[in-house]
Amino acid sequence: MLLYNTLSGKKEELKKPTNRTLKIFVCGPTVYDYPHIGNFRTFVFFDSFVKYLRLNGWRVFYLQNITDVDDKIIKRANEEKISWRSISKKFEKIYHSDEKKLGISSVDKYARATDNIKEIIKQTKTLIAKGYAYEIENDGIYFDISKFKDYGKLSKRTYLDAEDSVSRIDDSLNKRNKGDFALWKFSKPDEPEWPTDLGAGRPGWHIEDTALSGKYLGEQYDIHGGGIDLKFPHHEAEIAQAEASSGKIPFVKIWMHPGHLNVSGKKMSKSLGNFITMENFLSEHEGNVFRFLVLSHAYRSPINYTEETVENSENALKSIRIFLEKLDFVAEKTKNKKSETEEINKITAASGARIKDVLEDDFNTPEAIGEIFKLMSALEGKIWNLTKKDSYSVKKSIVLPLASLGFYIKTDKIPLKIKRLSEKRELSRTNKQFVQADALRNKIKELGYSIDDTPLGCFVYKD
Ligand SMILES: [Zn+2]
Repeated sequence: MLLYNTLSGKKEELKKPTNRTLKIFVCGPTVYDYPHIGNFRTFVFFDSFVKYLRLNGWRVFYLQNITDVDDKIIKRANEEKISWRSISKKFEKIYHSDEKKLGISSVDKYARATDNIKEIIKQTKTLIAKGYAYEIENDGIYFDISKFKDYGKLSKRTYLDAEDSVSRIDDSLNKRNKGDFALWKFSKPDEPEWPTDLGAGRPGWHIEDTALSGKYLGEQYDIHGGGIDLKFPHHEAEIAQAEASSGKIPFVKIWMHPGHLNVSGKKMSKSLGNFITMENFLSEHEGNVFRFLVLSHAYRSPINYTEETVENSENALKSIRIFLEKLDFVAEKTKNKKSETEEINKITAASGARIKDVLEDDFNTPEAIGEIFKLMSALEGKIWNLTKKDSYSVKKSIVLPLASLGFYIKTDKIPLKIKRLSEKRELSRTNKQFVQADALRNKIKELGYSIDDTPLGCFVYKD
């Protein structure tokens, strides 16, 4: 499989390991607020990616961290006059509930920062011992970026830009270099703290990831993912910490960064009023719709989220659902036609091969989805002539690639009432009572269903 590696700036081959598990780490949420749709672009993408690998025979261990102690959590707790733990507990729960609704189920281990203070301290001590970290009295322990020669190799820079996500925890007037970041911050009154032999305090943001991945994945692993905004300083800092403490290069083989998600052409922000939480989205749409929206875009490109893109995703999923229902209908109506058609086999085999090709080329999901639509339109005119066996194989060639991306497409069962009405309409038509037939069609329409008169009889589907 070819994957674009941010570190090398080109596509590299990732081979399926034969005697071990592929190890993936993705930066999880900071649980201080309702997660927004931009956060979930990354999580849905990696869920699809890992599911695809697993369905294709890869053994994968997928680790995600939960940042459950952080400036933003402390700030919110102070604003709401409750404990920081109740904030992080509440939003961690909401994160998992959103994941469930989105069908995200591929993560093997969620690891909280606060459950791994011991590992964080251990790595900090190693960095001090090796001369990469220094202490500022009554302040904290910082990483000295000037000591790590490769600092900047991932993002190709060492300076902060205005849009970089930075933490208050890294602020200090007494740092050796402007870009030095906190590994351990000594506690101030009313802040969470852990008593340790380095002094009572709390961890920096970057160190939690390398301490956790060290514990669960080892000093080196295969893939690190995260939103593009985490590339600098967060991921750059991770490389510095991990390679400096272990002495092993590279820390991670492949760095994958899904792009931004903008809303109506602008970066999402509460002040612009274009901020959409996942809960907002899921109160109006199914989880599949968001997955479709994410995967119908190339993962490294930005997504411009608009009402229209949501509607397009909804319509696309609907047309897949109706196509599958048509195939079920064909299978039901052609009970005696057991043979398969060579032409159909050729079409589905070619489609399957193309889908595999594009997914193995930097996981090009929009192309893969495009292939599914090409297959459907190539067969649209032939659908009523398919044999029962054909209809199964076509269905398989649509459902399987979608399932490998994490889609579960539910077909509808037509309620008995609607079935009866459509039978009545059929009868009116046979008796040439066209006025009654039309009236019945309208009634069915009002109840939310449509009718297609096909060579195999009347096909009913939900609008
Ligand atoms: Zn992270």
